[in-house]
Amino acid sequence: MATNAKVLVVFGTRPEAIKLFPVVHALNATAGLKVTTCVTAQHRSLLDQVLTIAGIEPDMDLNVMQPGQSLDSLTARLLTGIGQAMDRTRPDRVVVQGDTATAMVGALCAYYRKIPVSHVEAGLRSHDIYHPWPEEVNRKIIGAIADQHFAPTESASANLIAEAVAPARIHVTGNTVIDALHATLARISESPALAQGLDAIAERFRNKRIVLVTTHRRENFGDGMEEIARAIADIADLPDTAVLFPMHPNPGVVSVMDARLGARNNIARIDPLDYPHFIRALDLAHVVLTDSGGVQEEAPALGKPVLVMRETTERPEGVESGTAKLVGTDAARIVSEISTLLRDKQAYSAMARAHNPFGDGQAAQRIARVVANGSGI
Ligand code: UDP
Repeated sequence: MATNAKVLVVFGTRPEAIKLFPVVHALNATAGLKVTTCVTAQHRSLLDQVLTIAGIEPDMDLNVMQPGQSLDSLTARLLTGIGQAMDRTRPDRVVVQGDTATAMVGALCAYYRKIPVSHVEAGLRSHDIYHPWPEEVNRKIIGAIADQHFAPTESASANLIAEAVAPARIHVTGNTVIDALHATLARISESPALAQGLDAIAERFRNKRIVLVTTHRRENFGDGMEEIARAIADIADLPDTAVLFPMHPNPGVVSVMDARLGARNNIARIDPLDYPHFIRALDLAHVVLTDSGGVQEEAPALGKPVLVMRETTERPEGVESGTAKLVGTDAARIVSEISTLLRDKQAYSAMARAHNPFGDGQAAQRIARVVANGSGI
């Protein structure tokens, strides 16, 4: 029996950090595992916001982010950086999450060294390699390498089985984002100051329905982002409506929004929020308009209707359960869908039901148990 099996957790972006902090804490609490964290800082500032709130001090920080980084150069730097980190730590197992370049390269570096890989949030598929791009293929590469597939839902598990992954290697755990949400809601209720920074905006928009907007998806850069900006401007002109828009710092978002939106009374365009403040923003919102993956999972748990600015989703559970709707990126369509929800009480209440198709908040515990068993603990 292996004791003190060395587990290396590799991550680099905000959504990975949010979905992995409960896993890091659960692994740390598991006797017999020695956990090391390596951050690539693929997204520097957004990652650091989460690390601070989650109380994680990474053991290794590769700091790979460069302005205007191409996928080629990012991937090349990740490959050498993560490879060297693995050579230094010689882990018995590597844990990656989701579908980023960091996760894909982390799995590849482990494979090159014949180290087994656990994939958190395994089996999500849109079945279209360009939507989302490049995430769909990143997931498939990790799926081809991993020996422990932590599928958040039954439908993610079914996708893996359809790709001939052995059922014994698939563990349906729920999505760790629900663990993160529950843990953070509990922290906010103990220390409300953690999420009080939005009080001025809440007061400013006191009599309005707030539409919370997030957008960052690479496949929407260019024409899609122009349409989204047009939609935001028109939504802010609807009666009794305001837009709260924590803006992703990627220049593909910022340049378009700066050019199209300027300063307007009914739009609060603000810096990205740390996680407790973003949860508070979700709570203030009447409707959520997003192209984010994680936000699609959190909004149903809080009973917030979510309109998804994409043509496909690898998270069908939200759409099937009625809380989420795909609306694409055509400005006229987005505005018309939002107007319907704001006008039609029945349409609104049909979507605004709190439920958890993505998990029960116990995913990280399940994952830690399987990692420990797989390490002979
Ligand atoms: N989020 C946040 N602050 C913000 C916007 C989003 O903490 O200003 C959180 C959100 O709660 C979710 C995650 O970031 O858990 C989603 O990240 P993102 O949309 O960047 O990536 P995706 O989920 O699409 O991979």
